Amino acid sequence: MNRIYSFQHNSASLFVVATPIGNLKEFSPRAIETITKCDYVASEDTRTTGNLLHEFNIAKPMISCHEHNENEASEKIISLILNGKNVALTSDAGYPGISDPGAKVIKKAIENNIPVSIINGSCAFLPALIASNLETNHFYFHGFLKAKASERIKELEKLKNYPMTLIFYEAPHRIKDTLKDIYKIFGNRKATIAREISKLYEEYIRGDLKEFQDLDESSLKGEMVLVLEGNTKQEKISENDLISIIKTRLQDKNISKKELSKELADIYDLKKNDIYQLIIKIKD
Ligand code: SAM
Repeated sequence: MNRIYSFQHNSASLFVVATPIGNLKEFSPRAIETITKCDYVASEDTRTTGNLLHEFNIAKPMISCHEHNENEASEKIISLILNGKNVALTSDAGYPGISDPGAKVIKKAIENNIPVSIINGSCAFLPALIASNLETNHFYFHGFLKAKASERIKELEKLKNYPMTLIFYEAPHRIKDTLKDIYKIFGNRKATIAREISKLYEEYIRGDLKEFQDLDESSLKGEMVLVLEGNTKQEKISENDLISIIKTRLQDKNISKKELSKELADIYDLKKNDIYQLIIKIKD
């Protein structure tokens, strides 16, 4: 167990600061105050964050912390905090750690008993979900699908029976291929594309996957989130389908038999032990 007060302490902290995904007015007074008080800003792209801070007349020593150097950058950030310096962690837009670098720094800080405070702000998937007109009580956030078609199809096969609303991030140059693959694997479902959230050309396209096949690619520019209805017409999964899902999931060497049984039991409303026995049979 690890209990740490975020503010009732005398040590330095890691402040994880969400930055605007579009409209700069979404950079909160609290975020500005926090960064102003910090000694360093660690960011995914020092130029992007530097430009943002410049808009708010903030100048701070910057540390670069991106996908390719996060391990080394984490060491540096943790050492600074342990030496009494407050560090703000940002990514290019939205929350660090959400389809962006940051998770490793946060994990290391927690392992070192450093207080970690999240300074709330913009995130792309919440507004997309809320405005999607789809079920918002239970949802699954996937982030980006794999770029390679064969891997993307495998991922989608795993997700096709999830009953909860599904949320994906996607890039404009891949959206048409993704929509095609999803339609092929999931069949028709209600769907929403939330585009350019909080920017001048913000748009919500609400419809279904069949209709989306005819969308003109040139009208799908900018940043977008795809929100899909879950599999609400779930019939009992056949043993053959279950076996094929188990075989695919077992390729992930990090998952234990127990974890996989629980995961599939939750999704398909089956008994954990029945799935466990099936996994053992498949593995033998
Ligand atoms: N960390 C961010 C967050 O908290 O949402 C996500 C960063 S991820 C690298 C970028 C993806 O988020 C984009 O490809 C797009 O799918 C989504 N996104 C970011 N800004 C957006 C916006 N203004 N409108 C719609 N989607 C956006």
